[in-house]
Amino acid sequence: MAFDPATILTLTIAIAAAAALYLLLEWRSTQDVSLLYWSTGFASITLGCSLALLRTSGHFLIGVWFANGLLVFAHWMFLLGVARFVDGRLSPAWWLLIPIWCGLLLLPDGTTSSKFYLIVNSLLVATLALRASLLLQLERDVATLGTRQLHYTLLIHGVFYLAKVALALIPGELIDLVAYRGLVIRISLIEGVMAILLIALSMTGTVRYRRERQIERLAERDPLTALYNRRAFETRAPRFLRHISHDRPGALLLIDIDNFKPVNDLHGHAAGDRLLVTLSELIREILPEGALAARLGGDEFAILLSDSPRETATRLGEELRARFHAVASTTVVTPMAVTLSIGGSVFDLPPNDLGALIDHGDATLYEAKRGGRDQLRVLDQTKSTGAGADESTPARSMSN
Ligand code: GH3
Ligand code: MG
Repeated sequence: MAFDPATILTLTIAIAAAAALYLLLEWRSTQDVSLLYWSTGFASITLGCSLALLRTSGHFLIGVWFANGLLVFAHWMFLLGVARFVDGRLSPAWWLLIPIWCGLLLLPDGTTSSKFYLIVNSLLVATLALRASLLLQLERDVATLGTRQLHYTLLIHGVFYLAKVALALIPGELIDLVAYRGLVIRISLIEGVMAILLIALSMTGTVRYRRERQIERLAERDPLTALYNRRAFETRAPRFLRHISHDRPGALLLIDIDNFKPVNDLHGHAAGDRLLVTLSELIREILPEGALAARLGGDEFAILLSDSPRETATRLGEELRARFHAVASTTVVTPMAVTLSIGGSVFDLPPNDLGALIDHGDATLYEAKRGGRDQLRVLDQTKSTGAGADESTPARSMSN
């Protein structure tokens, strides 16, 4: 089979239709509206390419003007989909594309204006593709492999259309849109097939990577407080603890609310929930950069601090205890004060086992509870206390 323009166009129609259908099915399962815009874009390309087949039979208005107009419309849909995906805003100036395209109808004779048609069409497609690509240039923490792929695919596509403009401007360059004659047109037809494939694949990838990331984030967060859950804490802690050294001691603070059950019993579960959220907000406020905080379960929370000698850990724990006391005493009335007991442990050697570290924290937390609650106890396991850093060594120095 010879790769004449009609064959390539037929291939493009089939691939664009498949892409439109595929993106539509993806939308049905994810409900991501961007996919709907992108599917509409590929559906317009399918229609546009089908109409483009008519141009060789002399239907210039439908085969060239309307068909190419649909190509511009498709890229507009791509841009709208991208804007929706990144929650970006588009200027109303983009509506000017419609009068610009309609203005081409004023050209004297379609066939002789081929070059002008191609230049205007390519400039519009390039502008739309490059704008969409620019919108996908996201910050490191929000960008995914999918957004990067779509960014570069649209960038290359946009640059290709700009190159088409440059080629069309070369004096004497043959461009006959009706008969598909001219190198620029031939290359463009092939690029069209490749671009559809790459853009459609990147679009589905973009949505999938974001969904995966959202699922990962949900799996590692406590739904009530949005802090890390115990599993995420246990996964992240070893990487964190590896950087602990004599010069950069670490600290673990285990926090448990005192007399929390009566809050539920007297004021309802929702009031208890609000107090847990309040505590999580206070933890976020006092949390130094690079520290790790989690809700381990129930009314128990943990904070891992790096580069934190005993004074720093004590100051931080004390601040949290005092601030929680101030808030809880004014928001919940219970027979016994709702306060915080905090058990801390400071260490300057990376512990082999997070479990043992938590056990030490639990032991000091228990001391704080036994000592009357509403207090902070810190077990200092650093060498500066003169006792080495054996994890099984019992409490060497306590402060409250
Ligand atoms: P203590 O002073 O000894 O710490 O006792 P406590 O009353 O604070 O109770 P304890 O820490 O032994 O138990 C925690 C309670 O927290 C048990 C449970 O009813 C309640 N709880 C656990 N998870 C949730 C939650 O998600 N929301 C609410 N509102 N309550 C919870
Ligand atoms: Mg408690």
